[in-house]
Amino acid sequence: MKKTHPQQSRPPADRMGAVVLSRYSVGDSDYIVTFLTREQGLVSALAKNARQSIRRFGGNLLSPGMAAWYYLRQRPNSNLAFVERGEINPAAPNLPMDPICRALVAWALELVRAFEAHHNPAEPTFNLLLRHFGALAAASDFAAPSLAARRLSFGFTKCYLQIAGFGVGAENCCICGKKDSESWYAEPSFDGLICRQCERFLDRRLHNIPNSLREALLTTATHRSSPQLDEETLNIAENYFQHRASVQAGRAFKSPKVLRQLLENNPSDASNARRESMNSPMNSPMNAPMNTPISASINAPINASINASSVQQNTPNSNDDRIRPGSEGV
Ligand SMILES: [Zn+2]
Repeated sequence: MKKTHPQQSRPPADRMGAVVLSRYSVGDSDYIVTFLTREQGLVSALAKNARQSIRRFGGNLLSPGMAAWYYLRQRPNSNLAFVERGEINPAAPNLPMDPICRALVAWALELVRAFEAHHNPAEPTFNLLLRHFGALAAASDFAAPSLAARRLSFGFTKCYLQIAGFGVGAENCCICGKKDSESWYAEPSFDGLICRQCERFLDRRLHNIPNSLREALLTTATHRSSPQLDEETLNIAENYFQHRASVQAGRAFKSPKVLRQLLENNPSDASNARRESMNSPMNSPMNAPMNTPISASINAPINASINASSVQQNTPNSNDDRIRPGSEGV
């Protein structure tokens, strides 16, 4: 039978830098993949015969968290494009296999998937996500990798919620405007913290926000200023961010449950973290690869913002002990 759409009549595929946010199987051989791109925000695309084709999609090119080049052929009046093939970007960060780090990557992907839109440029989000992945890749070299990764995830989430329009005002009480309070609270649907006095009038259960967390929320909204929060404060922050994102998205997120389970089963590395932060505060992973200015050029190669050489200096064994997330699934 003759094909109804001969190759010649197809519009050409665009080569785009993109991050795989999610992937679903369709039938025995196809995937529907949702990408984040700088230029067009979300792009969902059908990957025909992707599960068989190592030539077009080898090297886990369609695994969630992968950042690479993709040849996307879009169709007018349709939200579903075709992805013809992918191409490894050697400059993209190699995300560690550590399960906690992978759960944090999954959280970042889930968050971005929930709040970005199709046909809506997403350069700040794209840059933030790539910087986050670069920092996570470097964080695995530190004495307390999961704690370092969770601090980075706090910084990412705080910044991303701001980009998405759901940032948390921490300076004043969002009800009465007061700047001083003996203790602070948060309600996921409120856009800021709540003072002790106003908390008494609200007839609902609120998150208690310790001072260290309030200060962390108050720091300048850059990813690299992720503060040295302890585990208990991170638990509170993660729980609150998860609730806030769920309220705004109107649905639950899956990855926080996975993270909680992993943290319950994993021994704490907090003592290592304390030693590390006392010895070398300037050497924290938050400061390491993040000082490189981000290229704003739309045409810049994906991930040009991440100083690949500085990441590699920290990761001499990067070929041995790191593989991309989701690699075992393909
Ligand atoms: Zn108040």
